[in-house]
Amino acid sequence: MSKQINIALIGNPNTGKTSVFNALTGLNQKVGNYPGITVEKKEGICKLPRGVKAHIIDLPGTYSLNASSLDENVVIELLLNKNDKDFPDVAVVVSDVENLKRNLLLFTQIKDLEIPTILVINMADRMKYKGISLDIEHLEQELKTKIAVISTRKNEGIDNLKLLISNYRDLSTTPCLNASEIDTDYFDKLRQAFPSQLLYKLWLVITQDVNFGKMDRNEVEALASFKTKSKSDLKRLQQKETIKRYQFINNTLKKGQTIDASQAKDLRTKFDRILTHKVWGYLIFFLILLLIFQAIYDWSTIPMDFIDGVFASLSDWVKNTLPEGAFTNLLAEGIISGLGGIVIFIPQIAFLFLFIAILEETGYMSRVVFLMDRVMRRFGLSGKSIVPLISGTACAIPAIMATRNIESWKERLITILVTPFTTCSARLPVYLIIIALVIPEGRFLGLSYQALTLMLLYLLGFGAAVISAYILNKVLKIKSKTFFVVEMPNYKLPLFKNVAITVLEKTKSFVFGAGKIILAISIILWFLASYGPGDAFNDAENIVKTEYASQNLNEEELNQKIASQKLEHSFIGIAGHAIEPVIRPLGYDWKIGIAIVSSFAAREVFVGTLATIYSVGNDDEDTIKNRMAGEVNPILGGPLFNFASGISLLLFYAFAMQCMSTLAVVKKETNTWKWPTLQLVIMTAIAYISALIAYQFLK
Ligand code: GDP
Ligand code: MG
Repeated sequence: MSKQINIALIGNPNTGKTSVFNALTGLNQKVGNYPGITVEKKEGICKLPRGVKAHIIDLPGTYSLNASSLDENVVIELLLNKNDKDFPDVAVVVSDVENLKRNLLLFTQIKDLEIPTILVINMADRMKYKGISLDIEHLEQELKTKIAVISTRKNEGIDNLKLLISNYRDLSTTPCLNASEIDTDYFDKLRQAFPSQLLYKLWLVITQDVNFGKMDRNEVEALASFKTKSKSDLKRLQQKETIKRYQFINNTLKKGQTIDASQAKDLRTKFDRILTHKVWGYLIFFLILLLIFQAIYDWSTIPMDFIDGVFASLSDWVKNTLPEGAFTNLLAEGIISGLGGIVIFIPQIAFLFLFIAILEETGYMSRVVFLMDRVMRRFGLSGKSIVPLISGTACAIPAIMATRNIESWKERLITILVTPFTTCSARLPVYLIIIALVIPEGRFLGLSYQALTLMLLYLLGFGAAVISAYILNKVLKIKSKTFFVVEMPNYKLPLFKNVAITVLEKTKSFVFGAGKIILAISIILWFLASYGPGDAFNDAENIVKTEYASQNLNEEELNQKIASQKLEHSFIGIAGHAIEPVIRPLGYDWKIGIAIVSSFAAREVFVGTLATIYSVGNDDEDTIKNRMAGEVNPILGGPLFNFASGISLLLFYAFAMQCMSTLAVVKKETNTWKWPTLQLVIMTAIAYISALIAYQFLK
């Protein structure tokens, strides 16, 4: 019978845990969240020699077992809780050969928990270049562990690692140090009170405030009495512990590791000087952003048009092939176009993450953070927030997913919340048509008013994002560690496998996570637009035919009138009518109301919906524009789309959260409906109030 064992990959950030994980599991992996929090959980399966199957978890990076962030809590709570179904049979501690000393601190702590441990020394390909040599036998003996020297980059040593894991029964559980030496009296008392518990584990529980799985109530209370030492005393003891560990590590490495410093070259310093330069650094980063922007904005249109076409023909095909009826309509117009609305985002997501993965992999992202942090930090954002904010000008969906590499939860949340303010490409058709209608054609200093207005709208979006970030930073009471870049990783050529897996995983997580919600909402919206109560809807055809009987319309014109009649009396149409009193102070009528309600599916639907209501074929922008220009305000007379209502509408679309797909992604990324709901309410409020003020002021 084959047995499944649990393996946990643990290590400092950037030591190559995920690369080892990818090397072991290939595509047999899945990504989820830890229950209740937004820390990413990666699990996978690896087949080992002798029929052993390993369930592998890629744990978040942590420097030590002294928790200071959500991510680190995950690691500690798992290691302290033997009842957790993921509790490791083997802890594989991944270290980076260039930072062995720092990496070993965590290793000794895990050893002291008496968990069977394998030490992976990764990035062996760098040893020659850095003039490092290791005495593995000595290290194995001193550290009481098995060591696998590997390079995931060169794919070397992985088989040996698999072999070590499959022989997990031979691993020693002897601790490296005796932590109780830091205060013998105190630890003696602890031992007497809890004879059956592991001392180091008790010590971690006392100093950490984390869940302690298997203790009964009495014990927890008894343990509380051991917190009598003041906070500062405990801190002092922890420091003493760290010093002891480093003494041990230094002694071990003295004989186990030799570094021939003369070999280390300094190309890296030169690169750093340019990439973090006060002028060149920003310039280079700006050029890279332009490239990314180009990719998601421009290059994506080719596959996106293709996807659009495929789904349109699929929907036509269904309509023409299946028997007419409600089910065919649901399939063709509800489900297929809903699926199309999900798949259409894939090119943008894939392009953005291709670039981000490359930037991360090469080590450039750390330089960006270093460069941008000082500016962004003032607004409660992280240096890494710049990528989502810029990508948001193409589409908020990949942009919000890109916040995942922001380590601090608070900075990440703020970035998620403010990104939808940036002007995404779906707002563009709305802006263009309204600007063409209400902004005069003249020029100011050689620049056309219309172009200036468009630029102002982009600035407005960006400004709104930055200002709200500033406010959120003051308002949100979230404790979360701000990460300072203590060291910068070396430059590396990106590993193709890592990049490919990142792109694949993000795309999958969007399609299966947010996709469900998007599909559900599109079906609901389709239903609301295709059905209506009463005769005005059900009898639309006859009503229109009678009404226009004298006018000799051709069939197409007649069909357009019918579509318009149906939309007006569908549920969405009724909603549009119903909100008219609310939106009249903004200068809109019920027709715009319908367009606003239905553009919740996606903003660009605005123009198409108006085309249907005005019963013009929606292929021709000029016709729609002329028709809109001819609309008369039912109450005040005069054109409905005038300067005041136009500006009001522009402001409304600039600020309103009119995009169900974005809401779905925010729900997916924050793991709760709380934030997307708040976002919807607050952004709509800002949109409404600013549109109201603008209209009342200008009319
Ligand atoms: P994690 O943060 O511990 O999950 O580390 P990652 O797996 O994301 O790797 C961090 C960086 O180290 C990436 O840029 C990898 O391409 C790089 N890397 C991983 N393994 C190796 C290796 O064996 N050799 C070299 N030179 N670089 C590696
Ligand atoms: Mg990782």
